[in-house]
Amino acid sequence: MFIDKAKIKIKAGNGGNGAVSFRREKYVAAGGPDGGDGGRGGNIVFKVDDNLATLMDFRYKRKYTAPNGEPGSGGRKNGRSGEDLVILVPRGTIIREVESGAVMADMSGDEPFIAAKGGRGGWGNPHFATPTRQVPRFAKEGTPGEEWEVSLELKLLADVGLLGFPNVGKSTLISVVSEAKPIIANYHFTTITPVLGVIDMGGGNSFVMADIPGLIEGAGDGVGLGHEFLRHVDRCRLLVHILDAAGSEGRDPIEDFHIINGELAKFNPELAERPQIVVANKIDLCEDGQVEKLRDYFEGQGYEFYTMCAPIQEGTQEIVNALWNKLQTLPPIKRYETERIPVELFEKASDKSFTISVEDDVYFVEALWLLRIIQRSDLEDYESLQYFQRVLISSGIIDALHEKGIQEGDIVSIYDFEFEFIN
Ligand code: GDP
Ligand code: MG
Repeated sequence: MFIDKAKIKIKAGNGGNGAVSFRREKYVAAGGPDGGDGGRGGNIVFKVDDNLATLMDFRYKRKYTAPNGEPGSGGRKNGRSGEDLVILVPRGTIIREVESGAVMADMSGDEPFIAAKGGRGGWGNPHFATPTRQVPRFAKEGTPGEEWEVSLELKLLADVGLLGFPNVGKSTLISVVSEAKPIIANYHFTTITPVLGVIDMGGGNSFVMADIPGLIEGAGDGVGLGHEFLRHVDRCRLLVHILDAAGSEGRDPIEDFHIINGELAKFNPELAERPQIVVANKIDLCEDGQVEKLRDYFEGQGYEFYTMCAPIQEGTQEIVNALWNKLQTLPPIKRYETERIPVELFEKASDKSFTISVEDDVYFVEALWLLRIIQRSDLEDYESLQYFQRVLISSGIIDALHEKGIQEGDIVSIYDFEFEFIN
């Protein structure tokens, strides 16, 4: 089955805790602090694998967890970092955060994408030694790794998409003009996974053609066209609408053309505006005058019109040349811009509890929802910082700090973020 949508949970590794430890040497009663730092938690990283054509794997495995960092230990031994967990996806996969729908990444290029960052390892106790605090009896805990529910959606990357009812000859065309070897058969529903073919124009030039699956079973019998497949047309710069010119299955090619374009417009009006070239196939089966009638009709409507007999490659090179020329005039393949995950989302978390612990005038605040706000906002930025301050007040954290007896000048430590308290 062709799976082009999935929803999974990802969790990066937690940072290991820092260690509290003191040197023990002969003749030295109490050595200095020597607790090692915790290791970083493993990231969750997405990467493109061109051997994948579907999101099928994600049907069976829905939770991905990267390993935690190891804790530090005595003798300044730092904990080992957790290894990154790499998740492979087909090229063209869009990754979105589920709750906000924000686009986290468009996996169209070769750059790996860190979707969930591993937690930072906590500092060992030597970091907290000062001239006045030579025996620090505390270390920092590692921070939790990021955790997200993400949706994956495959939106194929192709310059040209083939449209047309089953059996009109789409697979045949792609098989004779590219190296792709789709199944060609005289029955419906043959194309169940998308097939991409690279068409070599010589001189290092090429373009990609997609044979798109998804006309649902029974489409030809009037059950209706599946909308699902239209999603894959979304990123094609140019559409080739293939017709069975001979109406060899008792169909009317002009009617078919309008049925499919009607579905396109219903799905997304913008798609119906996408440039289309009309190709009449199976001209070997046509009666006299049939092709001319189609040509008059489509050229009259302002379409470029070509004819072919795909299995014997009659007319196919002219079509390939026309597609190439047309592509030179069109904008590049659409890339999805990444969107900011709104941090306000985390403020709405149902459990907004927090804990405060105090060590030597340092007030450690911990709360998972707050961590996410910190991870996802740029606290160097004035507006983000103001937002963060408002959250500290509205959540009752500032009041709780007062209750714990915080004084002006004490340090508030919230994971990676530290500031001096000002009344
Ligand atoms: P698709 O469903 O649109 O991908 O169509 P296919 O490429 O699988 O072709 C369906 C059937 O039509 C196959 O049996 C092909 O051999 C046949 N076919 C394709 N093009 C032509 C053509 O130009 N002339 C004739 N006579 N048969 C064709
Ligand atoms: Mg096919």
